Amino acid sequence: MQGTVLYGPRDVRFEDCPEPKIMEPTDAVIRLPATCVCGSDLWPYRGAQEIKGPTPMGHEYVGFVEEVGRAVTSIKPGQFVIGSFATSDNTCPHCQYGYQSSCVNREFMTRAQAPFLRVPHADGTLVATPGGTPPDDLVPSLLAASDVLGTGWFAADAANVKPGATVVVVGDGAVGLLGVLSARQMGAERIIAMSRHESRQKLAREFGATDIVTERGDEGITRIKDLTKGIGADSVLECVGTQESMMQAIQSTRPGGFVSYVGVPHGVSLDGAQLFFSHVHLHGGPAPVRRYLPQLIELILNGKINPGKVFDLVLPLDRVAEGYRAMDERRAIKALLRP
Ligand SMILES: [Zn+2]
Repeated sequence: MQGTVLYGPRDVRFEDCPEPKIMEPTDAVIRLPATCVCGSDLWPYRGAQEIKGPTPMGHEYVGFVEEVGRAVTSIKPGQFVIGSFATSDNTCPHCQYGYQSSCVNREFMTRAQAPFLRVPHADGTLVATPGGTPPDDLVPSLLAASDVLGTGWFAADAANVKPGATVVVVGDGAVGLLGVLSARQMGAERIIAMSRHESRQKLAREFGATDIVTERGDEGITRIKDLTKGIGADSVLECVGTQESMMQAIQSTRPGGFVSYVGVPHGVSLDGAQLFFSHVHLHGGPAPVRRYLPQLIELILNGKINPGKVFDLVLPLDRVAEGYRAMDERRAIKALLRP
């Protein structure tokens, strides 16, 4: 089998890798009809996050179950399944509180930019589509549920988006765009997307954005205040992970409002006094995608949402390096890879 390995900054190779096997009785091995490149893959790709030697890549996946370990009871060969970038037993106290991405048995997935994948804790991690194999045209949307949609949904949920709310989304990557979609599904009345890129603004509007703000930093905050009668937004979704985006989010929120943060932070530090006087709720982290999967799968299968639209580039898997390049150069929002 061949899979994707990152060797260093901007050095992605598609090369021979060992085929995954059942190693623990709780494992499953799945065959992937599609996989993709994540915005978070760009941090190590750009050298902004150090890697220790060649690193197999990919943590978003859907697929057909090929084989399961002897302790797996709910997942069966032949099923079409979706899992999260974080594995979970779905039984420990953190899982029961709905924070499966903090499961005591959590493993962060990798090696998914390949045709086959081993998934630990299959029973607690994977969700099978009801009604058998989904139509192929829904595969991109189901794949999005594995990470970007689940993360955008968590961002909206953690920012307490309620019917009638005014929402700001900071970040126009795939997660931010799906944060817009999620806020719309949760009944937000006004959704202000912060974006400078025309193609992304267009998709944000398709997903439900009512206003676009192109300014950033202090100018962006001023624009949000202007648009909200000087009050600030009820809910702000921070989907980038930089100091500027985090401060933009906190300062765009009204006193008593909610900020969620789902962008993996790089160099973010908060000033205690500024936080104290901002009066905002903060809630974020790696999204507990597993909590939302059954609901998201249903919305997709029923045609209520079409998150697969974030994939604006489709490539054969062996051209994965071009997928990274296109996303790095912002020529593509998100690259879908077909083995
Ligand atoms: Zn757990």
